Amino acid sequence: MNIHEYQAKALLAKYGVAVPEGGIAYTGQEAVGVAERLGGPVWVVKAQIHAGGRGKGGGVKLTRTLDGVRQKADAILGMNLVTHQTGPQGQTVRALLIAAGAEIAKEYYVGITLDRGKSMDVIMASTEGGVEIETVAEETPEKIIKVWIDPTIGMRPYQARQIAFGLGFEGTALKQAIRFITALYKAYVQSDASLAEINPLVLTEQGNVIAVDAKITLDDNALFRHKDLAELRDLHEEDPLEVEADEHDLNYIKLDGNVGCMVNGAGLAMASMDLIKLAGGEPANFLDVGGGASAETVEAGFRIILKDPNVKAILVNIFGGIVRCDRVARGVVEAARNVDINVPLIVRLQGTNAEEGRHILQQSGVELETAILFKEAADKVTQALAN
Ligand code: GDP
Ligand code: MN
Repeated sequence: MNIHEYQAKALLAKYGVAVPEGGIAYTGQEAVGVAERLGGPVWVVKAQIHAGGRGKGGGVKLTRTLDGVRQKADAILGMNLVTHQTGPQGQTVRALLIAAGAEIAKEYYVGITLDRGKSMDVIMASTEGGVEIETVAEETPEKIIKVWIDPTIGMRPYQARQIAFGLGFEGTALKQAIRFITALYKAYVQSDASLAEINPLVLTEQGNVIAVDAKITLDDNALFRHKDLAELRDLHEEDPLEVEADEHDLNYIKLDGNVGCMVNGAGLAMASMDLIKLAGGEPANFLDVGGGASAETVEAGFRIILKDPNVKAILVNIFGGIVRCDRVARGVVEAARNVDINVPLIVRLQGTNAEEGRHILQQSGVELETAILFKEAADKVTQALAN
């Protein structure tokens, strides 16, 4: 789960990470109120959406007057902000962070995430801050310092020093940077984050080290341990289809292709997506309906898949292990009667009572094709796209 910058900064501040003072505003009036409370001489007005690249898109503005705060706030609130991370449709701005503006001497990057290959957390830092880190990684990888943290030991003091020295900090800024990195790691671990990214981390003209931006992604599977953080969820920022799927306990992730997929089990779902691609199609979604695959879940699955206008054909691929294929087949038939499936439907049932399941499907009168082999199912669904 992603959270907003202002929420991330509040979380980080609790762990002692240095962030500029700020407050949230939903109107121009409130923005001025926050600015007055902060005092000047400079403020930054920042669109709060779950996407980076806001600066380039016009969602981050500096100003030195209260009038300016009001004008920028009025201009940014309600705007449809398009950045490289929102996609071309953009995202509506509903809230602003009004923060004390930093006088920046130099921008850096620091991020912590999980390195699955090494089964360790990795801290990445670079003197090339403010730029997209992906670009730095691609063009000048030698400019990224990486330090791996053994999760059974945690971060050692020398590791924080290694990064701070590596970034070239000196004197009091060096001490602040060490404290900053130590606190950032603590916040990352204790909030069960999968990403904590500060871009830019800045050295101010006054010689202080602070986070001008903050992005935190929390591990959904650990949210039950953080009721306070779970409440920060902003459904406006999530794909409406994913929100709806969540309500039905369906594991759905929207993708950009045109073949809707309904599968039981995450492994089979991923294999199905691979096979669809191999056959020349593009999956429109990942959907794991879980072990049960009851008529209700199948019906909810169809409804969600069909709300995506890109879907031109659907592949149902269910393995009957604990759940019997004849039951699944009845579920598919019942669901197909309740939902208007206006695209070609290919169903592959394999496992317990597969034969019986296929028979039920073929006798049902529902317009669909069955398949026995996995590759055959993928080929049929991509052929259906062409017709
Ligand atoms: P992003 O574009 O979504 O990553 O948003 P950021 O918070 O990183 O802001 C974009 C850019 O605006 C930063 O890289 C800075 O260069 C600039 N910026 C943001 N806040 C401040 C500030 O307080 N003072 C100054 N001088 N520049 C800022
Ligand atoms: Mn940024």
